[in-house]
Amino acid sequence: MTQLERAAKGEITAEIRAVAESEGIDPEIVRDHVAKGKVVIPANKNRTKKLTGIGKGLRTKINASIGSSTDIADIKMEVEKAVVAEKYGADTLMDLSVGGDIYGIRKAVLDAISLPVGTVPLYEAFALAIEKYGAAVNMPAELLFEITEKQCAEGVGFMAIHCGINRKTVEMLRKQHYRYGGLVSKGGSYMVAWMEHNNKENPLYEHYDRVVEIMKKYDAVLSLGNGFRAGAIHDATDRVQIQELLINCELAEVGREMGCQTMVEGPGHVPINEIEANIIMEKKMSGESPFYMLGPITTDVAPGYDHITAAIGASLSSAFGADFICYVTPSEHLGLPFPEDVREGVIASKIAAHIGDMIKYKDNQKDKLMSKARRDMQWQQQFELCIDPERAREIKAKRGNGSDHSCTMCGKFCANDILKDMFRKDMIGSDKE
Ligand code: SF4
Repeated sequence: MTQLERAAKGEITAEIRAVAESEGIDPEIVRDHVAKGKVVIPANKNRTKKLTGIGKGLRTKINASIGSSTDIADIKMEVEKAVVAEKYGADTLMDLSVGGDIYGIRKAVLDAISLPVGTVPLYEAFALAIEKYGAAVNMPAELLFEITEKQCAEGVGFMAIHCGINRKTVEMLRKQHYRYGGLVSKGGSYMVAWMEHNNKENPLYEHYDRVVEIMKKYDAVLSLGNGFRAGAIHDATDRVQIQELLINCELAEVGREMGCQTMVEGPGHVPINEIEANIIMEKKMSGESPFYMLGPITTDVAPGYDHITAAIGASLSSAFGADFICYVTPSEHLGLPFPEDVREGVIASKIAAHIGDMIKYKDNQKDKLMSKARRDMQWQQQFELCIDPERAREIKAKRGNGSDHSCTMCGKFCANDILKDMFRKDMIGSDKE
């Protein structure tokens, strides 16, 4: 039985208990949410190392994606990226390798870290089809199911599977007749090319029940992939994106009713005034399935800084109720991320998740403690409260200690220092709580 099926029977599993403990909430609340498909726990029956829960009432989680390309395929570097992602606080990791020894990279990553690992099985299936049959469009449909099962058996905890692409949506794209950013999902583009070339329905949509049964066998979480996500803010919330969202929400419900843990992905590049609408739609149409936000990237003109454009979108997403955010690195749209990009991406999305959670859960205690530590120039305490203490310590050390307890930013003009003796007691020394 899956976590969902066991929870629906009233069982508080060891996994549910562990998630509740790490979040500091009642296990019965987590059980109820798992039973209703509002929380998922990626705990593959063949590989459960670190447990994390994603969804309603839980801290916003962040995913870091790594993986080779056909141009750069270096197992050692991919493992290093995975280790860096775990070290700096990612909650999950996706291996999106499409080049080199895809299986070897995945195995090395699964062995090297304890985070739940996700994949997009379509990538390996299409890469194999290119190798064996000369072109992705020659892929036998059966290969999709074989690869999905193989990866599940290896211990992959969640998979983005593009079940929501169907002929109706492709037809809608044709009728809409524009896409400023084209199609930006690799899996989505290959699947559309396969459907058009073979004049067939997407096998993952047509035989959705088979996908669900495979995921259930290993209790992997089915993440309904976003093949038509907007790759430009001018494509955000268009008919094609919303049509796929609608289908994915429907499939999330069908999967849940079959006992499979499901979540929904979306929406790509989105201007900030459309983020909330996307979340309301997903939550309403899916019966509150966890929403896995890719980005959202909020402007198209900042390559080199897309970890920032995405963090802005992710903080709003989290505040409006998104449950899981996929990081973006500074190398987005420019090249394959290196380990230093992974660190930047993880920290940027952790900041975003924290900002969102403060609003979502009305909990800003950590920020209050930081404010007091900053006012009182308690440097040690400040470092301990930092999202990235290593970076804060490095900068402080490089810039020198300044005069007395201050830093070199203002030196003798340190506002905290000036007020310290004169006003601390009667003006700002007492805290409201
Ligand atoms: S020197 Fe300026 S920046 Fe540094 S602690 Fe004092 S007020 Fe803050």
